[in-house]
Amino acid sequence: MMTYDVENQQMSTLELNAMLEQADINALRMALLQLTGDPVFTEMETFKQPVWGGVFSLPTVSPKHHDEIKKRAMEVLLNPPKDVPPPPSLGESKRLMELFSGDKLSIEYARLGYEELAFEPYPRDVEWTERPTDEVLSSYHATIIGCGASGIAVAVLLEKLGIPYTVIEREPSIGGTWWVHKFPECRVDINAHSYQYKFEKKYPWSEHFPTAKESLKYLNHIVDKYRIRSHLRLNTRLLGSTWDENSGNWNVRIVGPDGKEETLRSKFVFNATGQFSRPKLPSVEGVRDFKGKMFHAARWDTNYSLKGKRVALVGTGATGAQMMPALAEEAKSLTVYQRSPQWVIGMPKYKENITEAEHYLFRSIPYYWNWYVYSSFAKTQEFERITVVDPEWITKGGLVSERNDMCRQVMTNYILEKMKSKEELVEKLIPPYPPMARRVIVDNGWYDALQRDNVELVVDEIRRFTPRGIVSADDIEREFDLVVNATGFSISDYFGDTKVVGRDGMTPEELWAKDGPRAYLSLMIPKFPNLFMFYGPNGSPRFGGLYTWIECWARYCVSIAKHVIENGLHSAAVTEAAYGDYNAKIDEAQKINLRGGPKYTGSYYINEFGRAGTNMPFDAEQYHDLLYQPDLNDLDIR
Ligand SMILES: Cc1cc2nc3c(=O)[nH]c(=O)nc-3n(C[C@H](O)[C@H](O)[C@H](O)COP(=O)(O)OP(=O)(O)OC[C@H]3O[C@@H](n4cnc5c(N)ncnc54)[C@H](O)[C@@H]3O)c2cc1C
Repeated sequence: MMTYDVENQQMSTLELNAMLEQADINALRMALLQLTGDPVFTEMETFKQPVWGGVFSLPTVSPKHHDEIKKRAMEVLLNPPKDVPPPPSLGESKRLMELFSGDKLSIEYARLGYEELAFEPYPRDVEWTERPTDEVLSSYHATIIGCGASGIAVAVLLEKLGIPYTVIEREPSIGGTWWVHKFPECRVDINAHSYQYKFEKKYPWSEHFPTAKESLKYLNHIVDKYRIRSHLRLNTRLLGSTWDENSGNWNVRIVGPDGKEETLRSKFVFNATGQFSRPKLPSVEGVRDFKGKMFHAARWDTNYSLKGKRVALVGTGATGAQMMPALAEEAKSLTVYQRSPQWVIGMPKYKENITEAEHYLFRSIPYYWNWYVYSSFAKTQEFERITVVDPEWITKGGLVSERNDMCRQVMTNYILEKMKSKEELVEKLIPPYPPMARRVIVDNGWYDALQRDNVELVVDEIRRFTPRGIVSADDIEREFDLVVNATGFSISDYFGDTKVVGRDGMTPEELWAKDGPRAYLSLMIPKFPNLFMFYGPNGSPRFGGLYTWIECWARYCVSIAKHVIENGLHSAAVTEAAYGDYNAKIDEAQKINLRGGPKYTGSYYINEFGRAGTNMPFDAEQYHDLLYQPDLNDLDIR
C-alpha cells in the first residue's frame, strides 16, 4: 500500500478514503468546482432529499456522482494545488449558491449567503473612507455594556477601526450566557458552524453542538485574538445612562468591584446586555417560605450535590428540558412541574464530536470549510418556512399550513415512538399548539428520562410553596430538598434595572407604555441618539444562527458611528416617523406569521400586552437587506 505525506502525516489511500466518507458531499462538490473550474461539477444532477418525512427537503447531489466527487477530492488531497483560485465575487457566488440549492435566488438572499460563505476575512466589516487621526478618534469614546457574543462583535469592529472603547461587564468573566449558565448539560442547540462569527475561520470545534464550556472557550479565544481584553472592566455594572444634548455624549454611570460609582463620557453606547440575562422567578404564593434549597437555572450552585436529594424542577422550556435528564440521573427523585407541554425533537449529530477526519478535510481542501458553513446555514433556512401561516390551507380544514401540519404529525409520531413504555403520559406531552409557535426544543433525553422510576411528571398547576415543598392544583403537597426554577427570563425588560434617559428626558418606559418594547430594526429608538440595542425588540430573526445577526447588527451600528465620526457630527437617532413606519410594517407582517400572536400566548414570544414582541416577522433576506447599510433618510442626524 502506498503512503502519502499529507500535512506531514503518513496516510494511506485507504485512510484518506475513509476520511472522505465523512465529508459533506454537497459542500465537497462546490469546493472542487471552485478549485478546478471543471464543468463536470456544474453538470451533476441534484435532487431535493426529503427530511423529517418531507417537512424539509435539502438539496443533494445525486448518489451517482458521489464516487466521482470523492475520487477528485482524493486527487486534491494527494496533490494539494499550488495555486488556489481567488474566492468568487458576489455575482459568481450567487450562481454557485443557485447551483448548490437548485433554486433561483434573489440578490437579497445571495448577499446574506455570500457573507455566510465567509470568503472575505471580515465578511461584515466596516472600513473608514479615510481614517481620522488618533487625536480626532480620541474624542469619540464608546461604551459597550455586556461582554457576551454581541458585545464582543462590536468590540472587534471598534478595535479594528481604532475607535476608543470600554466594555463593562457585571460578571467576573466575559461570555454572557455561556459564562452565566452552569446548569448540567447546558449546550448550544444550533450547530457550531452556524453559531460562530464568520471572521474567525476554521475554529476547531470539538462537538457539532458545543457545550456552554466550549462556547465560553471560543469567546475567550476571540477576546484574546482580537485584542479586546485590555478594554474590559469586569465586575462592573451599568447603573444608568443619560444623554447630554450640549456635548452630544452619554453620561454612563457605572459601579465597579470596589463599589465606587463613576461616570464614563461616551459618544456611543452599545447596549449588549442580552435577552436572557434577567432571571424571572415564579410568582407563586409562599415562594419565600420554602426552607429547602432553591435557585434559578441561571444561578446554578455548582457546589450543591444532588446525590440522594428530592428535587423539583419547575419549568420545562428549553433550559428545563435540557437539564432534566441529568437531574434525573443524579437525584434520588425528580418531580417535573410542567405548565404546558413543549415540542421536543431529536437532532442529528447532537452530542457528537466533530471527527478528526472532518477537521482534516476543513484544513486540507480549500473552500470546503466555506461550503460546509454555508450548507449549515442553508439548512436552518428550512425552519423559516414552517412559521408561515397559509390561510388557504386553513380554509380547506388545515391547521396552519401543509408544511406545519406535516411537521406536527412527524413530531407527534416521535413522541409516540419514544414513550412506548409509558403511553399513559403521551396525552400530557403533546402540545395543543403548532410546532414553532414556541421555541422547539432539542431532545436531550427528555422522553427517556420521563420513563425512569425516579421521575414524576406533574401537570397540575403549582398553587403554592410551603416550607417543605410545593402544593399543586391536585392538592398534593410534595416535599423537596431542592427546587430548581427553570422559569425563564424577563425578556421585555430590555434595560433591566438601569435608568436610561434620552433626549428631552425621554425614557424607554414612556416610549413603550402602549404595547411594550419596540425598536427600529430591533436596534434603535427615537430620542436615544447614538445608542444601539442588541437582540432588541422583534430582534430574533427567522433563521440563521444568532451570530449571523449579531454581526449584522454590529456592522449596522458601527457604520452609523463611523458616519458620525467621519463627518464630525453631533449625533444620529432614528426619526419618530421611521420608527413608526417600520413598526407598522412589523405589525402587518405578523399577521401571517405563526408567532405573530396573540393566538399562541404562554411563551416569551408574546409580551404582557399580547403582542409578539420578540420575533422578527420579516424574511431573513428582507431583514438582512435592511441591515445591510444604514438608510440615512431614516435618521435624525445633527
Ligand atoms: C440557557 C440558554 C441557552 C441558549 N441556547 C441558545 C442556542 O442554542 N442558540 C441560540 O441561538 N441562542 C441561544 N441562547 C440565546 C443566547 O443568549 C444568545 O445566543 C447569545 O448568547 C446572546 O449573546 P448576547 O451577547 O446578546 O447576550 P448575553 O450572552 O446574555 O450577554 C449579555 C451580557 O451583558 C451583561 N450585562 C447585563 N446587564 C448588565 C449591566 N447592567 N451591566 C453590565 N453588564 C450587564 C450580562 O452579564 C451578560 O454577560 C441561549 C440562551 C440561554 C439562556
